[in-house]
Amino acid sequence: MGTIDQIVQHVREHMADGPVAVKEAHEAGTKVIGTYCTYMPWELADAAGAITAVLCAKSDKPIAAAEEHLPRNLCPLIKASYGHALLDTCPYFHFCDAVVAETTCDGKKKMFELMSALKPLHMIRIPHSSSRPEDLEQMKSEFWKTREYLEKVAGRAITDDALRESIALRNREREALRSLWELSALDEPPLSGLEVHQFGEYMQYRFDKRKDVPWLEEQVKRIRSAWESGERRNLGKKPRIMITGCPTGGVVKVIEAVENAGAVVVCYENCGGQKELGYLVDETKDPMEALAEKYLAIGCSIMSPDTNRMDSLRALAERYKIDGVVEVLLTACHTYAVESYSVRNLVQSLGKKYLLVETDYSEGDKEQIATRMDAFVEMM
Ligand code: SF4
Ligand code: SF4
Repeated sequence: MGTIDQIVQHVREHMADGPVAVKEAHEAGTKVIGTYCTYMPWELADAAGAITAVLCAKSDKPIAAAEEHLPRNLCPLIKASYGHALLDTCPYFHFCDAVVAETTCDGKKKMFELMSALKPLHMIRIPHSSSRPEDLEQMKSEFWKTREYLEKVAGRAITDDALRESIALRNREREALRSLWELSALDEPPLSGLEVHQFGEYMQYRFDKRKDVPWLEEQVKRIRSAWESGERRNLGKKPRIMITGCPTGGVVKVIEAVENAGAVVVCYENCGGQKELGYLVDETKDPMEALAEKYLAIGCSIMSPDTNRMDSLRALAERYKIDGVVEVLLTACHTYAVESYSVRNLVQSLGKKYLLVETDYSEGDKEQIATRMDAFVEMM
């Protein structure tokens, strides 16, 4: 087995370690903060000595229970997240001391009102545009309130020194993941898109960042040097796809369909990819100002206009030499659905192929997605 295969196998084998780790952290007295969105300023929780657990649900099992309180015509991510909380079937939600939520889309915002009956919940009021000076001021003021909230939950003050240290460590993690992602810009990538996705998921639930970030940096170096020494995994000469749109944690079936159809996913513009890794926190500035700038830059469809997303799509298409874009749309996600018209026009103006896949967390449409993906990949 080659070096890259060994690293991939390690990641796969340990992807499900998170629940035990969060239980142990909780039992050791560490505060656990549940989060749902890329707008969460992780650095504040780290600097308070807490750990952050991503709660976005990825299974359709809790949806039926959620539909007893929520309308059916709501995105599966929102319903599944609420359903897990209601049924207490998510170990991360179970062990978290508080949730930090955001006013992103309307469905999520209103769901959080119901969720606040189940857990202490702090809401970050995200501005819905990012280019005006008052947007930055609002973000900063909201992050200050979040800082104070986390200090209360953790029972300790967040010092600027601790915050700077957390920012530096999270930046190192982002840079290491970026270096991993950037290997996919090579003509013959060392990792499939699914493996890159799994690396991101794995790191989300590694809570000891002081230990885990150096480990990640080391693995990225090992993958690169194995590739430079000639290790190949038959991922060249395939159509190169960028994924954009809604979060794909619960619809990995789309990534699998792309790669089963004979293409390779070389880049992610959505959450976990560009939205999180595209911007670092500026370590030379006042830490609160720098955090507000970084998170405000996220190109999410809740922003109007969403210029940063369009700019990212253009830049990534060129950098990763893509042949086509697959846009993932979770059922009833209005902001991404409306924005898909502009995305399609942009992608086509670049001379690339575009496919929109609207789906939910069920398995029922797997075959239909596979058939459409086969036809899409065949065109390239
Ligand atoms: S798509 Fe937007 S709202 Fe949804 S998790 Fe990502 S940043 Fe948050
Ligand atoms: S996928 Fe769309 S509808 Fe669902 S939580 Fe994210 S922004 Fe809201």
